[in-house]
Formats: sequence, structure tokens, C-alpha cells
Amino acid sequence: MSQMSSRVLGCFLCLLAGVVFLALAHGQRKTAAASEPATSPSIVFLGTGMPRPQPDHLGPSTAIIVNGKAYLVDAGVGVVRQASAAYMVGTSALKVEDLRVAFITHLHSDHTLGLPDLIFTPWVMGRTAPLELYGPTGIKKMAENIIKAYEQDIRIRINGLEGANRTGYKVNAHEINPGVVYQDTNVKVTAFLVEHGSWPKAYGYRFETAHKTVVISGDTRPSKSVIDACNGCDVLIHEVYSGYGGTSQKNPEEWMKYMAAFHTSAEELGILATQARAKKLIVTHYVSLGSSDQTEMVNLIKKASLGRWSWPVTWMSLSRNSAVSNASGNVDNVASQPGKILRACCGGGTPLERWEFDLKCASAQGA
Ligand SMILES: [Zn+2]
Ligand SMILES: [Zn+2]
Repeated sequence: MSQMSSRVLGCFLCLLAGVVFLALAHGQRKTAAASEPATSPSIVFLGTGMPRPQPDHLGPSTAIIVNGKAYLVDAGVGVVRQASAAYMVGTSALKVEDLRVAFITHLHSDHTLGLPDLIFTPWVMGRTAPLELYGPTGIKKMAENIIKAYEQDIRIRINGLEGANRTGYKVNAHEINPGVVYQDTNVKVTAFLVEHGSWPKAYGYRFETAHKTVVISGDTRPSKSVIDACNGCDVLIHEVYSGYGGTSQKNPEEWMKYMAAFHTSAEELGILATQARAKKLIVTHYVSLGSSDQTEMVNLIKKASLGRWSWPVTWMSLSRNSAVSNASGNVDNVASQPGKILRACCGGGTPLERWEFDLKCASAQGA
């Protein structure tokens, strides 16, 4: 993000929670049929981190998987390696060569630093189709400049002994406007503008499948457009912060002005999610300010719902090396179980209230 030094926390605290996964190198590949029920969307959080380079958290990126095809939202640091790790433990839709469609919420660096990786690595691995990239005004120029920056690499890979194909590094960049921006047999994707401080265009996305509707807020302060886009949706994935003050580098009052203009507090999210009638809320991009912690954040959200709390909060702070907590305070030390992927499965006719966070979810559904 901009003004990095003093605002490392900026979007930073845009951070985390979500689902995600870890798994890394140990996992064994499983077949798609064994792990992914047909027609059931699933959500894999590939990264929930922030500008601050926390060793245990990668940049924001979420995969919505429908009928074995992955649709990425944002491309934070590590997106391709996280996808590869997920693939290695059974999420076949995240095979690197098959990463072909991505939706960018906005152009903050923490959401786009993985773009060069997403453009080139799948190509190096054999992708021949261009990347279909959707995002706000400026995404086209960003993609063009990335390709220009790597022109020597492209030339040598194509013309040298590596024999790379001539098409897979290309990008079809689509600068979008609010409305339906993508549709295929699996999903209809509608973009909507959100209010993210001084960004002229920042988007959230609504994914409609045959079975479920998932809405992703992107980075935003409380926006009516999110309420309208969700409107009883099955899953609302929303950013949040709690607590007061930022870093020692910044005046707390000023910092809170920034947070209020760019992001959504726990109290605000409690009200918003209630108004949106979300059946399920997944808190992501979680920012903890001052002495606040995740339990406090969840309590604030619930309190702000004024007793209308009818949906569970799922919030997971992904860490490769530490435990993962859920909103009820339970701790599942999934990170210590090599080969497991932490993900939320929503589908197979199973109510969304039932969320499981490892590969057993698919088999448990009888898939
Ligand atoms: Zn962010
Ligand atoms: Zn942002």
C-alpha cells in the first residue's frame, strides 16, 4: 500500500482470519473425485496476511471453487505457492497450470503483489491460456507493466532451450464496472463498488452458483453495497478490525481516522452482517489494534448485532506454525498436522452451518 513506512499496518491490518491452509510440502496428492463433491462450491483461503511481512501469514487471496474450477479473488504474496500446496493435498482445482481466472478487489499492493507470480509461474509450469484478470481501472496498465518488466525472462524462456509456449504469460485484463462481470456454466460474478478510503474504485464480488451465494467484501469501510450484495447470502466474507490505535509510528487519533475511512470495525460489522442477513459470516483480513484480541473482536461483533445474532462467525487466523482458533474459542491445532488443508466446505446439500476445515470434510459428506 501507499505510504508504506509509517503505514505498514495500513491495509496491513487488513489482514487475516479466514480459512486457509497450510499443508505445504508434505501432503500427498489425492484425486479430485475423492476430495471435491461435484457442484459444491468450496472456499479456500490462500492467504490472510497484510503488508507487514509476518512470517506466518501470506498475502490476501481466496479461491472460490465450483465444479472443479478455481476463481481467485486477489493475488497477495504467495498465492501460487499456496495454491500449489492446496493442490498437493487434494484440491485439484488449484493445480498451478489451471489458475486462469482472477478477480482483483483493488490495487493496494498487499492484494496484488502476487500478480507477477500468477502471471508467470503457471505459464512456466505449462499454462497455455492467458490469464483472465478482472479488476478496477488500472489493472490493465499494471498487468502490462509487469509483463514489460519481465520481457527478458519471457524472451529467453520462449526462444531458449526452455521452449516455453508463446501464450501462457499473456493477460486478458478486464477493467470492470459494477454489474455482472463474468459468467460461465459454474458461476455468475457480480462486482459492486465499496468504500475504501481514497481509492476511487474498490470492488467487492458476489459469486452465485447453482447451490450457494458467496459475497466477498474486499477492503472496505461499512458499505451499503455489501448489505445489498449479500441480502441473505449464504456466506459473507468480510474484513474487520478491532481495538484502538495503530503503531508507535503514528498518532492513534490519526490512525483511527485512517481505519474508519478505509476499514470496518467489529461493531460496524456486527450491524452490517445483521442487516445483510448473512447466513454465515467469515471474518478475514483481521486487524487487531492495541490490546484487542480475536475473542474480543468476535464479542464486539455479536454485541453489535443486538441479539439478532443468528449466524456463526467463522474466523480463523491462519498460521503455518500456530494453532487456529475459531470463534467459539476452540483451538484446532491443524497446522501441526502435515498434509492437511484447512478449508471451509459448503455444499453437497450440507447446510453451511456445518463447516469443516480439513480434507475429511469431503469424505464426511459422502462424496
Ligand atoms: Zn488490504
Ligand atoms: Zn486495501
